[in-house]
Order: sequence, then C-alpha cells, then structure tokens
Amino acid sequence: MSEVRICSRCVLPATFPNISFDEYGVCSLCSRPEAAHQTQFENRQRREFEEVVETNRGRFVYDAVCCYSGGKDSTYMLKMMVGDLGLNVLAFTLDNGFITDQSKENIVRVVDILEVDHFFFKPARTFMTRMYREAVFGDLNQSRGNYITRISDVCLSCISVVNTCAARLALTHRIPMIFAGFTPGQIPRAVIKNNHRFYRETFRQHGQHWQSRLGTQVGRYLDLPDDSFEIYQMSPYLVFEKSEAFILAEIRELGWLHPERLDGCTSNCALNAVGNLCHEKKYGFHPYALELSKLVRKGLLSREEALHKLTLQVDEPALLGSLQQLGVSRCEIDSLARR
Ligand SMILES: [Zn+2]
Repeated sequence: MSEVRICSRCVLPATFPNISFDEYGVCSLCSRPEAAHQTQFENRQRREFEEVVETNRGRFVYDAVCCYSGGKDSTYMLKMMVGDLGLNVLAFTLDNGFITDQSKENIVRVVDILEVDHFFFKPARTFMTRMYREAVFGDLNQSRGNYITRISDVCLSCISVVNTCAARLALTHRIPMIFAGFTPGQIPRAVIKNNHRFYRETFRQHGQHWQSRLGTQVGRYLDLPDDSFEIYQMSPYLVFEKSEAFILAEIRELGWLHPERLDGCTSNCALNAVGNLCHEKKYGFHPYALELSKLVRKGLLSREEALHKLTLQVDEPALLGSLQQLGVSRCEIDSLARR
C-alpha cells in the first residue's frame, strides 16, 4: 500500500471511492468548503441531544443502555453518562469471542468503579463464527446497503448484532435511550428516534437471505418484536467532541489499561485486524481511513497519529490466532478478490 498517494492534509488514499486531489495534494474532502449551515446543524443537534436526555431521565428503572465494548471511546462515554449526564445506566457488552483478557479486566474494573449494572452477552460461538465467515467471503454487506467507506464487512456484521441486542434489552426493560460510541464518520445524526424499527424492517427485507446463509436462529440476533415503545439512539461523540488524548487521560483515572497485540484502530477486539485486512484486500483502502480523516479535519487527532493507527499492524501470531478461531487460513485471506 505504500506507493498509494495519500492526501497531504488528512489520511485518505487515492484508492478511496470518488476521491480526487488538487495540485497541492489535498483531497477533495479536505478542500470541500465547510457548508454554511454546518454550525447551525451542529448546534441544533446538541440542543436536541440535551433535550432528549432531560426529558427521559428518571422515567423508568434505567435511563439508558450503554453499548459498552470496553474500548477507549465507550469507556469514556460510560464515565460521561454517569458523571456528566447523571444517568442511571445499564451497561451491556456483546462478547463476540474476540475481546481480549485485558479488555475484559478493564470492563469489570470500570463498571465496578462507576457502580454501574452490567452484563456480558455471549451469542453461540457457532453462529458468530458462521456470520464472520460470511462477512469475510460472502455478500452479507451487499444485502445491508453500501457501507464500504465507513466500516469493514466483519465489523458491520458484529455491530448489527450489538445494535439489535441493545434494542431488545431496551424494549425488555423499558429503557428509553441507547448510547453508542459512534464517531462523526460512522453515523449521520446524534439523535435517531426509533432506530430499532429500521432494524426490524431490515430483517423483514433480508431475513430470508440471512436465514439461508446463517441458519434459522438468525432471528435471535438480528430480529426484533413489533413494539410501540419509543427509543432514542444517542451518539454523544457527535455533539461532545473530545480529543483522543483527553479521552485516554480521563479513562486512565479509572484504571483502564490499553490492551496489547491489537491493530491501531481498536482498543478491545482481536478480530478487528482481520476485518481491516479483508477490507483492504476487497476494496483497496483501510476501513478506518474515512473516520480518522474526519477526526484529523476536526483537529481531534493529528495526521501523524492517524497515519500511525492506519499502519500499525497486529503481530502475525496474534492475527493467525484470530484466523484459526474463525477456521480461515491466511492464504484464503490473501487470495480475496478485489471487488
Ligand atoms: Zn484530505
């Protein structure tokens, strides 16, 4: 990948879809003028976010589900939910089978210190393995819309299970808000009302296809009941912009330790490196390039740090361990065809 041209201001490569460069080597996303209404839009989003929090605090046993992966962003988000927003939180971790031991220790320590109710949910390994293999080799992504600029097929499949399980939890316990650590490159709006109905509709459209690929139990992980209860999907990182340095300093106070032997774009999941590798093979660019380029443009991450994250590879034995767990050989990954 080293010979691929990279924007001189952010980190987007020439292989990114529909990109172009000016004579100074600046990409078309960086040179695009900031839309005049952008500031108004952001202010409106912040007001809406705060209103939804105020309106829904204290209505039920829990105010919000926290999708808590144990990574740095969701750890700080949980701290912010409890400390700054004063919410009564039920934290939820999907154990996808690839969360490192250090990450699990971080999770247990943080929820204890913050005095938050929490549980791990670990879907059956056979299902998760089948789903990840389909994400690597199959066409799950095509049936879920065109997300290739934002997320790897492997991560998308996992996030879909997280979103559905979080929504089921919120419906079961009547919890009106779900917080997730999405960053500006990953989700369009800070508050989305009744996103769970969109998941349900998506399952109505693609459920049969997924059943044929993933087995009949797929509904357990990707379908939701018809329920009129209203839930707000909340993405605080779209309205409270925090630099990575700030987040790391804040969570260090909770005893959070950075897990080792991971790629540069995750702080909890050993499968992420596999998703990145497959994405680069299939689409020709790194799945975190867009997200990191947005953080660079917003001044929340330096270009050097972003480049470091994109190029930091997990060591080969760790990568092979994850592949072995999936029953996929390195050779099969290397021969993935460019889409
Ligand atoms: Zn750029």
